Amino acid sequence: MTKIECVILDWAGTTVDYGCFAPVGAFLRMFRQFHLDVTTAQIRRSMGLAKIDHIRTIMNDADMTKQFLTNYSRQWFESDIVKMNEYFEQYLFETLREFARPLPYVLETAERLRGRGIKIGSTTGYTEAMMQIVCVEAAAQGYHVDHLETPDTFSGGRPSPFMIFRNMERLKIDSVKKIVKVGDTIADIREGYHAGCFSIGIIEGSSELGLSLEEFIQTTPDKIEIKKRNIAKRMFDAGADYVLNNISELPDCIEKIEQKITGKTAPYLLLTPGPLSTTQTVKEVMLQDWCTWDTDYNEGVVTVIRDKLLKLASETPNNLTTVLLQGSGTYVVEAVLNSTVRNSDHLLIVTNGVYGDRMIKIADKAALPYTVLRGKIEQPISSESIREKLQTDSSITHVAFVHCETTTGILNPLEQISETVKSFDKLLVVDAMSSFGGIPIDVEKLNIDFLISSANKCIQGVPGFAFIIAKTEKMKQIKGIARTLSLDIYDQWETMNQGKGKWRFTSPTHVVRAFAQALLELEQEGGIAARYKRYVENERRLYEGMKKIGYTPFLPQDFQSPIITSFLYPKENFSFEDFYYRLKANGVVIYPGKISDIETFRIGTIGEVYPEDISFLLELIQSLSGN
Ligand SMILES: *Cc1c(COP(=O)(O)O)cnc(C)c1O
Repeated sequence: MTKIECVILDWAGTTVDYGCFAPVGAFLRMFRQFHLDVTTAQIRRSMGLAKIDHIRTIMNDADMTKQFLTNYSRQWFESDIVKMNEYFEQYLFETLREFARPLPYVLETAERLRGRGIKIGSTTGYTEAMMQIVCVEAAAQGYHVDHLETPDTFSGGRPSPFMIFRNMERLKIDSVKKIVKVGDTIADIREGYHAGCFSIGIIEGSSELGLSLEEFIQTTPDKIEIKKRNIAKRMFDAGADYVLNNISELPDCIEKIEQKITGKTAPYLLLTPGPLSTTQTVKEVMLQDWCTWDTDYNEGVVTVIRDKLLKLASETPNNLTTVLLQGSGTYVVEAVLNSTVRNSDHLLIVTNGVYGDRMIKIADKAALPYTVLRGKIEQPISSESIREKLQTDSSITHVAFVHCETTTGILNPLEQISETVKSFDKLLVVDAMSSFGGIPIDVEKLNIDFLISSANKCIQGVPGFAFIIAKTEKMKQIKGIARTLSLDIYDQWETMNQGKGKWRFTSPTHVVRAFAQALLELEQEGGIAARYKRYVENERRLYEGMKKIGYTPFLPQDFQSPIITSFLYPKENFSFEDFYYRLKANGVVIYPGKISDIETFRIGTIGEVYPEDISFLLELIQSLSGN
């Protein structure tokens, strides 16, 4: 894998001397000495060049040549330039020490880069003698580089790339593709461009912007915005690959560059319960655009999905139907509750976690008639408690609960609950968002009326829609109940049936196409039974492995789903944030998760995740725990 190994930073205007004022002051004084009028803008235009080259460039302006001729009654010669440079140097040396203060974010950024094993080289338009002063002063304030090249020791000044090459040689970097050059002037950008490395411009504190820190703070944001846009355009025109506001954005930019070099689209493995890690092939099928009004899409993609979902829902899906709806899982839970519960009905919401509680919020918002049966968060829902409730309150018509509570990872007893609810002949709504496709469920045999799941959980698609598996007969009976237009599942179902796969309103085409691919890959894996086996092995390995390292799972293994597992924070010396970012830096992302007032974090075991990935994670955690 190719990584950026070296950052070459410019000095004045980039890492020290905010606004690059030291040379500007010295130039103005020197030209005044020679009775030549020059503007700051004129000076800044060529900033970044070796200073003697800079003076010559300014003197080559027609206006300067004319002024010189008027003052001295002759043309200027190279000896004049040398003399001017002597004065310039003298003036610069007088003030240089005051202009060596590191810019904001420079110290932290240098530390972050070094933490990632990146070397820091540097180039400048200053001479070696000038840099001796600047380096000593900057080092006293905490900033130093691994190597410095100045243009006076050989004829290698900007915009030629030779100072960069010398850095490479000294720092043992074997390819320009492993180098990022950062600077604040057009000459800097050209230097990087000519070297063939990544060339990055910085705006705040730059000579191009030409403002002191106080002026920058006092300028209104919209004025700054216009200036920034102009500078960025000039830098891009000069060949910049990226233009940043300030140097603190550099580490993220390097990450972006590395992703681009490696062509890696997922810089980390998601061990989360959705969105989750998907296969390259699922991602790739999204690279096509679709029209939604003819058969290619509606029959070729949507209808195929609906048929396959029914086959996944039951061995004998004779009385089942399915409908897909735009939005995340919550949208479709809201759609189902709003489309099935009449004002004359009475919904019982059974909850032992955040997602059960979300149904309460949904019922509240829609002013649905409902009652809550609350279980303990660390215990599976008891079907016995539901039985008691249904016995004592005969007005209840609907029961809704969550199969796998993703809050803790607990698995609620679907079979017992559906048996109980059905023995009272109530309508059953199951949020099987995080379990359908990963845990075998026979919707027909279990007599479930409405089951909800989403594209980005165990089927391993990408986020953008969710779906409902329902009894056809029950679906037919809910016409006109919905209190909402876009979340009316009957209407959506009817349109999808009559239009042979047509969606009401814009369909998330790319997501739907990815889902079709995900279903194909589920079949190739061996169906839900095989996927379940993999998830179970992932979870078992995680549960046992974490215990061995010294982490305590929140739930006993008996209550645990293979979907996601919660762990208590260790009692001592634990910062979740630190833990999280160290894992992420090593390519793995886990899931935060506070359960009421118990501090826990969660690790998902679903998605394109294999037992080897869990072993890798465990090794990583072990090494971070220092055991
Ligand atoms: C993911 C999930 C949902 C839906 O969450 P969204 O963020 O809306 O996709 C609902 N219920 C459970 C159990 C879930 O795991």
